[in-house]
Amino acid sequence: MVLTPAEAADAAELRRHAMGQAGISPARADVNVKVVRRSIDARSRQPRIRIVADVFVGHEPPAERRVSDMLRQANPARRVIIVGAGPAGYFAALELLLHGITPVVLDRGKDVRARRRDLRAIQQDGVVDPHSNYCFGEGGAGTYSDGKLYTRSHKRGSIETVLQLLVEHGATSDILIDAHPHIGSNKLWQVVQNIRHTIENHGGEVHFGAHVTDLVITANGNGRRARGVVTSDGMEFVGDAVILATGHSARDVFALCARRGVEIEAKPFALGVRIEHPQELIDGIRYHQTPRDPNLPASSYSLVCQSDQRGVFSFCMCPGGLIVPAATAPGEIVVNGMSMSRRDSPFANSGTVVAVEPDDWKQSGYDGIFGALEFQAHTERSAFAANGTGSQKAPAQRLMDYLDGRVSTQIPKTSYIPGHVSADMSDVLPAAIDARLRNGIRQFGSMMPGYLTNEAVMVAVESRTSSPVRIPRHRETYEHVGVSRLYPCGEGAGYAGGIVSAALDGQNVARAIALTYAGS
Ligand SMILES: Cc1cc2nc3c(=O)[nH]c(=O)nc-3n(C[C@H](O)[C@H](O)[C@H](O)COP(=O)(O)OP(=O)(O)OC[C@H]3O[C@@H](n4cnc5c(N)ncnc54)[C@H](O)[C@@H]3O)c2cc1C
Repeated sequence: MVLTPAEAADAAELRRHAMGQAGISPARADVNVKVVRRSIDARSRQPRIRIVADVFVGHEPPAERRVSDMLRQANPARRVIIVGAGPAGYFAALELLLHGITPVVLDRGKDVRARRRDLRAIQQDGVVDPHSNYCFGEGGAGTYSDGKLYTRSHKRGSIETVLQLLVEHGATSDILIDAHPHIGSNKLWQVVQNIRHTIENHGGEVHFGAHVTDLVITANGNGRRARGVVTSDGMEFVGDAVILATGHSARDVFALCARRGVEIEAKPFALGVRIEHPQELIDGIRYHQTPRDPNLPASSYSLVCQSDQRGVFSFCMCPGGLIVPAATAPGEIVVNGMSMSRRDSPFANSGTVVAVEPDDWKQSGYDGIFGALEFQAHTERSAFAANGTGSQKAPAQRLMDYLDGRVSTQIPKTSYIPGHVSADMSDVLPAAIDARLRNGIRQFGSMMPGYLTNEAVMVAVESRTSSPVRIPRHRETYEHVGVSRLYPCGEGAGYAGGIVSAALDGQNVARAIALTYAGS
């Protein structure tokens, strides 16, 4: 069905259209309409909602299969240590429970509620707790995010199962039908908390304030085998396998791997800024109407082009969202985006980044396994230095001023709560990024008329787009290439780039571990 936004929002109208399309008499009362797919078509001047629905005549839709009902009580003799309570870690834990294996989850941060106080401290006082921030703590980087669940990942595994588990733990069932599903920060924390309760109720363990600082690795024939981990307070946790799901910002874990002779390698990532427009302006461009129809969600965009042999692209667009300070240590500025479920802030922000390749960090004097990471960290420190206040105020510049090479005399209000300092982005960004970004933004202007405006503000730096390090593993077994029973997992290991792909990776790794128990 192709409906107007008002028709699509009205259950009676939707039912009437569906029955009409299926050739069913409007007089029949024993008809159930179940929407299975919903997307927005904004190509014409009058946006339309495309809907696919199943129509059941004479009976109810069949009951949904609940994945949670298949979880088993954990066998205490089979223990797997999971480092990191992000989407990769928690979905690995749920998958282990499907096989009756005990997950022992360790996270350096706090539970999802306690974590909120530390986010307030970053926002209001500029104080960054290196263990509890927008990246670290229960739910990982995915908790206080936009909660976009759209993925282009073609990993093995079922995206539907991931979404179904999120719904069973409190997410709206809309995510099962929307083409671009999202949850929102105000709902995500409850989902994450419910997942923890499920893990614990089935015999799993979740420990907070458990900062893993060492790996227990023993000789195993000619090779080496992971036996467990040690936390900063000297506690040892041992198990049959160790999943490392510590995210893209756990620099100490990469250092730990290097120290323990666990092979890691530098990996391309992307670097740039957040660009924020008034949401109304983006709605005007995308929907050809202002104000937008109240039945339409805040609009988004996705832009990509080539600039001097590198991709330049918009990333993690947060319509009706906020720019947040996502640093994980004092002395650095990192920005990212989040939104609430209603996406109702007056701002639209999006990461706008340039792909970073080995030549870029090498030309800046960085090399070796930490070359990409050091290039990333250097840029984050430059952003901090540009602010000159020691706070989380971020360097900012109006978009047209940047293109015209002018420092902005005044920065308009943005959604970034810690505030800004006016800066020349060319001084903050590495030269290889700056030139390509400038060129890419000009191209975006021709792709999306209205995008280039001095009402738009650039806020720096968007640097944690993906991990600058990979922890290599075998393709089939998911085990580390040099240490058996060690399973690099999720975004930090370089195998995911978002909530859903991290969750899928967690499930795949857990399934591979379950196979190792077969016959034992
Ligand atoms: C503000 C923000 C908004 C985002 N918005 C979206 C979005 O809308 N959609 C989307 O798909 N993606 C989004 N992302 C990216 C997404 O959150 C990540 O891709 C995803 O969380 C990666 O999952 P992960 O489990 O691999 O790692 P993480 O989520 O990073 O989790 C890693 C966990 O490991 C813990 N840890 C780290 N080191 C240690 C240690 N030494 N000992 C013990 N524990 C440790 C951390 O505390 C953390 O909880 C966003 C990210 C941020 C920061």
